[in-house]
Amino acid sequence: MPDSRTPPDGASPRTTGAQARPPEVDRVAASRRAVAARRERAALKKDVAMRVITPQELLRRALADPTSPAGAMRVPEFLTAIPAIGEGKRDRILHDLEISPVKRLGGLGSRQREDLRSFLDARWPELEPRGGRSRLVVLAGPTAVGKGTVAAHIKAHHPEILLSVSATTRAPRPGEVDGEHYFFVDDAEFDRMIADDELLEYATVHNAYRYGTPRTPIEKALAQGRTVLLEIDLQGARQVREADPSATLVFLLPPSWDELVQRLVGRGTEDTAERARRLRTAKTELASQAEFDFRVVNDDIARAADEVARLAH
Ligand code: 5GP
Repeated sequence: MPDSRTPPDGASPRTTGAQARPPEVDRVAASRRAVAARRERAALKKDVAMRVITPQELLRRALADPTSPAGAMRVPEFLTAIPAIGEGKRDRILHDLEISPVKRLGGLGSRQREDLRSFLDARWPELEPRGGRSRLVVLAGPTAVGKGTVAAHIKAHHPEILLSVSATTRAPRPGEVDGEHYFFVDDAEFDRMIADDELLEYATVHNAYRYGTPRTPIEKALAQGRTVLLEIDLQGARQVREADPSATLVFLLPPSWDELVQRLVGRGTEDTAERARRLRTAKTELASQAEFDFRVVNDDIARAADEVARLAH
């Protein structure tokens, strides 16, 4: 059978077309790079949309390195990633700030940068530390962000900070010690603690068991001038804020939305409905970070733990 690629007249294949374009390998590499860059921009937009990072943070990254994925993002793309900005609002903002829709974040002029930053600051104020905070520190954050691990690291490396021991109605897991990891109590005892006002806060977590923070050890430690850390869920954090408005609330964030999704559903053992439910919950949980005084990114356990410990002092 004749080779179909061989011209019928036996002449060698024409190469002029191939010479006009870059060699095949370069084109493949370039298109791979373009796909990777697009993917990175999409991940960043998701981080803003899900409130894992603030719009200001993305702008900071873009200006720090205009060649980075953040820097290469077009301004309209950036704006529509921000919760509550649709296409109509986006166009009005571009018009008001006199920014062309083809502009990339990294290519903004100095006046445009300033205008965009002031615009963002006015509408999405970044969290400012409160003055007059007490030494009662709450560490909360979305499910699976790694609060327990960070709290355990603080307990091991910062003995001056008292890590509160909660009461819970769930059974101990292997290796858990009563009075050290939790006070394991039954429902009747938990009810009694509530009735006798022994709990600073309490909540049913994941629609399953009840967890609560015993009041007395905390009050004693605070009276001695010690710092107390509570690693509790969001409902508990809100109750603490209500009980003591001067408490310091720290929100632990994942390094990115994709990373949190990995940690939540990474093993893929859940069915589609359960997966969707967890992602919805994570989205709602992330949206509550505005109620917190500080945000700490759990990109590295030891680093995040040290940052929380510094805030606690
Ligand atoms: P686990 O059962 O895995 O130890 O904890 C489950 C969840 O309960 C975690 O999200 C943890 O933050 C939360 N939790 C632990 N202790 C307390 C507590 O005293 N109060 C509240 N509200 N949540 C708690």
